[in-house]
Amino acid sequence: LEPVIKPLAVMESQCPFCSVQCKVKVTEENIPESSRLSYKAEGISNAASEGRLCVKGMNAHQHATSAARLLHPLIKKDGRLVPASWEEALQTISGHFKSAIKERGPDSIGVYGGGSLTNEAAYLLGKFARVALGTKYIDYNGRFCMSAAASAGNKTFGIDRGLTCRLADIPLARCIVLAGTNIAECQPTLMPYFNKAKENGAKIIVIDPRVTATAAVADLHLQIRPGTDAALANGMLKIILEEGLADESFVRARTKGFEELKSHLEKADLSEIASLCGLNAEAIREAAVTYAQADTGIIFTARGVEQQTDGHMSVRNFLNLVLATGKIGREGCGYGAVTGQGNGQGGREHGQKADQLPGYRMIDNESDRAYVASVWGIAPEQIPGKGVSAYEMMELVAKEQIKTLFVMGSNPIVSNPNARLVEEGLRKLDLLVVADMFLTETAALADVVLPVSAYLENGGTMTNLEGRVLLREAARPVPGEARHDWSILCQLANQLGKGDYFTFGSSEEIFNELRLASRGGVADYYGITYDRLRREEGIYWPCPSKDDSGTGLLFREKFAHPDGKAVFTVVESRSPQETPSADYPLTLTNGRLLAHYLTGVQTRRSPSLAAREVENFMEINPRTAQKFRIEDGEWVEVRSRRGSFTVRSRVTKQIREDTVFVPMHWGGAQNVNRATTPELDPFCKMPGFKTSAVSVRPVRLL
Ligand code: SF4
Repeated sequence: LEPVIKPLAVMESQCPFCSVQCKVKVTEENIPESSRLSYKAEGISNAASEGRLCVKGMNAHQHATSAARLLHPLIKKDGRLVPASWEEALQTISGHFKSAIKERGPDSIGVYGGGSLTNEAAYLLGKFARVALGTKYIDYNGRFCMSAAASAGNKTFGIDRGLTCRLADIPLARCIVLAGTNIAECQPTLMPYFNKAKENGAKIIVIDPRVTATAAVADLHLQIRPGTDAALANGMLKIILEEGLADESFVRARTKGFEELKSHLEKADLSEIASLCGLNAEAIREAAVTYAQADTGIIFTARGVEQQTDGHMSVRNFLNLVLATGKIGREGCGYGAVTGQGNGQGGREHGQKADQLPGYRMIDNESDRAYVASVWGIAPEQIPGKGVSAYEMMELVAKEQIKTLFVMGSNPIVSNPNARLVEEGLRKLDLLVVADMFLTETAALADVVLPVSAYLENGGTMTNLEGRVLLREAARPVPGEARHDWSILCQLANQLGKGDYFTFGSSEEIFNELRLASRGGVADYYGITYDRLRREEGIYWPCPSKDDSGTGLLFREKFAHPDGKAVFTVVESRSPQETPSADYPLTLTNGRLLAHYLTGVQTRRSPSLAAREVENFMEINPRTAQKFRIEDGEWVEVRSRRGSFTVRSRVTKQIREDTVFVPMHWGGAQNVNRATTPELDPFCKMPGFKTSAVSVRPVRLL
């Protein structure tokens, strides 16, 4: 007789990985004739994912149910992390915080958050830093994700929301530009939207130095030299203006700054631009004309455009293209920054950034400070001023200006550029506290490690790439002694004597304060409640009142600047800041793989995902490999001015001859960030991850 298998639990949740936030059902069963458990994941329909799951979502439960989960706090004693009680761990941390504040001042403490935290945790972490600790130093790993797109959207449109339209607009677009985004691997469940657009007659233009899985569906692939996207957009703009393809009436009625852009572009030389970008001028013309002549169109950018030392201006030049052709504020039109992290959008809206307060309020704006202070029940002057960006915080750690660091939901030793400096700095701290599910590369260096709940256990809201707020309910008990991140913050605040400001008993109570703090701000969540989220399938912000249905398609009549107009800007065509030289003749670019997420903390601990890519590698063109005497599959040292790492070579024609590609999901000796440049974009402080000059050598010849 076949054994009858009955589910032990059926859990509904959301995939914790990318910004689509696909809904998932995980069924827990006994393995027949075994005491072990088995899990099965299935997609459930929600408005974004339409029931699809990619391989990451199918296997996300593997890390949540992993035996490698941290189940007890750990404290370093005699150089080793050993199990400790919560009481001892929290007393160690709060005791140290108190003496650090007394002896060195609150700004000797840094707080480092993450874009995968729920909105509630992100909000509370910002409040914890400013109210409980009184430090100005808080920032998060989303600084490396889409800060360039965020600052560009704010300057051009007066608002930063990942998509200015809805996912449902994609099939209505007749031309789609995918610039520096590999959606087929990074947000795979979105691909059917693009396939549908193609069926409807859309042309797809992909801009990427690699022949990616996304480029495979392109009608036109511009295999651009890394770091030259701003120049490419200038070339496209010049052609659009010369061919009379600009939407003059839209430009006149709804924008400003066009004349300056026009006269700047008159001086631009298309053949020089083509040479800088490593492209054929005719291909640039085809892209420009195809996009401009389409009735509808959407431009998407992601890290390929944004993670540059001129990422802000590069994105702004793609926004110039959107405005010049009037493709925004109507069905099938718009701009989208394809967020990478699960809550990359919400993570940056609620005060986790060095320069922002909840609701996208600005920390250096007097009325914004006064409003948030009134919600928090403190005086405005008690809110510290503007801090520094994530990597700049690591520099302050290295300079021993910040001596205590509290890290929640992030792995900075792997994700920051110039990883050796970061590691040296972290080793010099008086106290490093890491709250995580696993003993990450950063946690391994910590003095205290706090175990936290995983996505199946931790309820709260996430805001997907469309700006749609979704409620993820807790679906299983927290294992061992792990705790929710928000509850850890409340307990620590209590021990610091600030418990009156952190009296929350649930994530819903935190969300209700967040709603109030965001009220009247750019990212207004006031009208969104847990009850509504349970009834409705996600609600777009801004949503200022409970009877407001939220706004999916932005800018139908006006932009968010006070005069209602969008702003063109003049962008220079230039080469990347760190250009190849005789000693470092190639450009290193990095990115993601289908099976992995961020620094691989979760996906490297999911057996099915880990098995797909077991170690890091470097893609190199066959001609380049021959030149540097590199065989396929051999160990290669990749070296820059900052340091080196060692990975296997993967010889492929899918990469440009002047470029090598290395994924970002591994730490230690395989960490690509040992070589990446820490040079920052002046507007948004994004490091130039995508353009580092390197040399490559087979290890056998070293
Ligand atoms: Fe969906 Fe993204 Fe998770 Fe894949 S990784 S299942 S696309 S949320």
